[in-house]
Amino acid sequence: MGKLFGTDGVRGVVNKELTPELVLKLSKAIGTFFGKNSKILVGRDVRAGGDMLLKIVEGGLLSVGAEVYDGGMAPTPALQYAVKTLGYDGGIIITASHNPAPYNGIKVVDKDGIEIRREKENQIEDLFFTERFNTVEWSSLTIEVKREDRVISTYVNGILSHVDVEKIKKKNYKVLIDPANSVGALSTPLVARALGCKIYTINGNLDPLFSARQPEPTFDSLKETAEVVKTLKVDLGVAHDGDADRAIFIDSEGRVQWGDRSGTLLSYWASVKNPRVIKKIVTAVSSSSLVEEYLSKYNIQVEWTKVGSVDIAHKVADENALAGFEENGGFMYPPHQYVRDGAMSFALMLELIANENVSSAELFDRLPKYYLVKTKVDLKPGMVVEGIYKKILEVYSASTVKAITIDGVKIIGKDFWFLVRKSGTEPIIRIMAEAKDENVANNLVNELKKIVEGK
Ligand code: MG
Repeated sequence: MGKLFGTDGVRGVVNKELTPELVLKLSKAIGTFFGKNSKILVGRDVRAGGDMLLKIVEGGLLSVGAEVYDGGMAPTPALQYAVKTLGYDGGIIITASHNPAPYNGIKVVDKDGIEIRREKENQIEDLFFTERFNTVEWSSLTIEVKREDRVISTYVNGILSHVDVEKIKKKNYKVLIDPANSVGALSTPLVARALGCKIYTINGNLDPLFSARQPEPTFDSLKETAEVVKTLKVDLGVAHDGDADRAIFIDSEGRVQWGDRSGTLLSYWASVKNPRVIKKIVTAVSSSSLVEEYLSKYNIQVEWTKVGSVDIAHKVADENALAGFEENGGFMYPPHQYVRDGAMSFALMLELIANENVSSAELFDRLPKYYLVKTKVDLKPGMVVEGIYKKILEVYSASTVKAITIDGVKIIGKDFWFLVRKSGTEPIIRIMAEAKDENVANNLVNELKKIVEGK
């Protein structure tokens, strides 16, 4: 049986791998999976081909007897929240998240708003490849696609219900929002306005070509944004990815703070807001070892998982964890929903700095200092990924304190750690290393890159 779903949905370059034909067939499989008369919410981010794919998905769902509601353009977490709270049986979101501009994708969510479990992806793949689709008589077809106009307002109100609005309002914060020229522009400024902030935006126009900033927040792609934070002397900057489920923060000193750093602070805050006897959070192997170093002071246990928000979300739900996050800025706050949520993270971060009565720079300075270096290598024909992992384990065996091989190869040494891992969404191998000494981190990444490239 073939494989369609990657780490997070079905992704590909529009009209190349992700063809209208494939998407039509996939929509029929998804509609058959949810069943006749199921209510399905569909929506999309700003990407090229989004409207074409949306209409194909709607047609495919209708053809197998589903009831279809069009939520329009919205952040992924807003559509997920709408599925959960407005009584839908499931949802389809047309997005490729942080992938480069030519990509688009199909993400399927269950009635709880969470990305469907792996077993259900397999069922949909089975229906797709065997073409066992529901059939509907002409006279029983649903007459039309209905509009769902409540997606953004329901989402924004949901976020505001989880923070102390008055406490944040009193601070009159100045914030800079960078929604990556995509759907974050439709909701995060509304959250900031309700929280009494003075709002500046950069990359705030909707642009399917992402001509000003790539959809993935990186240290490099956020250079200009960070400069603006510093120049305007704002209290907090936030940058989203293409579908606004990620939030990367820029502190009041203009320093880009990576997602495992903000995730650590927000996890601490989640433990204060929701007191528990057993305190546990979930994060992927791609997060820094500082997560454990910092949270152990507050008796918060860290459970490491494979990379991929689907696994993290289900683990957080199954284990009733306080929070879950990825180093890329995807943070999940369970009282709101079990999915990554950029605007929810932003509201919580404002609440945290208001509560602690410190600047965002002072807050981040509470964390241990590590230097992070990341790069990626294109996957070329002939590269044997398992062989590369094996070689790395051999080369670093002498300096390894702990090796984790549940997803790629992660090696923790005395004053460093690194992860080399094949991406689940793009044909690349990601390399990330962190060390207390900047030169050590840089040297590690250079050495690892050479090994991966076979030089
Ligand atoms: Mg995303």
